[in-house]
Amino acid sequence: MAVSYRRWVSKNLLREEPGPILAESVLQRVWFEQLVRNPLATLAGEKITLFHSGIWNHRAGPDFLRASFLTPDGQIHSGDVELHRHSSDWNAHAHSANPAYKNVVLHVFWQTDPGFFPAPHSGIRQIALEHQLAAPLTELISLFRSSSSEILAGEKPGQCHPLLLSLPPEKLKEILEEAGWHRLRLRRSLAHARIASQGFEQATWISLAEGLGFSENRESFASLARAVPIQKILAIPDPVDREAVLYGVAHLLPDPTRFPVSPQSRPWVMELWERWWVQREIWTPYILPPDTWRFGSTRPNNSPYRRLAALSFLSHPVVWQGIVKTIYDGEALVFLNFLRSVSHHFWDHHSGWDGRVLSSSSRLIGTDRAIALLFQVLAPLTDLPEAELSSRMENWPAGGDAGLLRSASMRLLGVPFPPPDVRTHLAREGLLQIYKDFCRAKPCVACSMPEFLKHR
Ligand code: SF4
Repeated sequence: MAVSYRRWVSKNLLREEPGPILAESVLQRVWFEQLVRNPLATLAGEKITLFHSGIWNHRAGPDFLRASFLTPDGQIHSGDVELHRHSSDWNAHAHSANPAYKNVVLHVFWQTDPGFFPAPHSGIRQIALEHQLAAPLTELISLFRSSSSEILAGEKPGQCHPLLLSLPPEKLKEILEEAGWHRLRLRRSLAHARIASQGFEQATWISLAEGLGFSENRESFASLARAVPIQKILAIPDPVDREAVLYGVAHLLPDPTRFPVSPQSRPWVMELWERWWVQREIWTPYILPPDTWRFGSTRPNNSPYRRLAALSFLSHPVVWQGIVKTIYDGEALVFLNFLRSVSHHFWDHHSGWDGRVLSSSSRLIGTDRAIALLFQVLAPLTDLPEAELSSRMENWPAGGDAGLLRSASMRLLGVPFPPPDVRTHLAREGLLQIYKDFCRAKPCVACSMPEFLKHR
């Protein structure tokens, strides 16, 4: 009898893991591929249905970000996931005391240690995978060998990627740009509502702050921009005083008399602290809570400290008037030049108050972020009519948030970057919008996008 290919591979190429406990990297791969039973049983006996295993985080902080799942009471939950080999590793690594892990909702591990009892009321569901794999381990191992680009993107190709990639380039571009317009119109509606209620300059200030916050600290930066409105910051004549107020209200300025500060940072912290000390009383009601900021998955170059320095630079009255006019007039290249000129004597070389120096001096707003801000800030706020904006956008430089684009492209198109024919600004934004509307909302099996594509 002819041996099947599957049996041949199992027998000749794959072996069981030598030890009883899987390596953490293998567990991460299993989780990333969602090669687990669904629903999954928690240690408490609850059955949860996994929608999205989360974005694979290759930096500090939890292993997967923004996973989503359904509990038997019909509630959809989302949050981060931390994986370990042993159930006790959470405590051994002191994650409870680390604010980067405060959004963890699932603690997933290979085996439960004897005598392990999860902390009551922690709100984190505990899952042992040892007996909940979706296929024999020997068959799963072949998957662990593949696709470094998937690992880099933190995503895997979704169900509709063959359909999307098989479309003629002009059709694919048309669909993506349609989604891009949808994204832009949503942003323009929000911008117009903000202009109507708070005025053009404050709407611009909030949008710039949000854009500098990236996805991790978007809300935090918006809260800061509301707590310290642009008209109040412009009324402070001295740039160091302005900076002290922004860092003080943000709760990102350590008191150097109570907390250890590195020798490199000390002169600048002292200066800001002394300025903040005399202004603090009037700002006290507006100070943000200390746990406002997320540092876990943020690269050092994009730390909130550096982004805040950029916001402070833009609040210089001369720069501010220039940037407001540029946005209103829709002058993309002048806007980019403003953003590229942002610099700071301390933050160009540091990522935090701990004194560590960046490996090389780095722009506070890099090219990718500046290009992303074109779409996030200038396009929604400009006074240009839609037709004029559309024709100008065709000449905007391509680029933008490479990390998120890579994830969206891997999921929807099965490749880390969109094909050259569809690399327009609008198509790129459309890809991100579809990723947000569909891929982050539901698993492929429950998604209506393949049906939509058939109708197109
Ligand atoms: S979730 Fe929907 S849109 Fe995303 S890859 Fe799956 S089928 Fe496509």
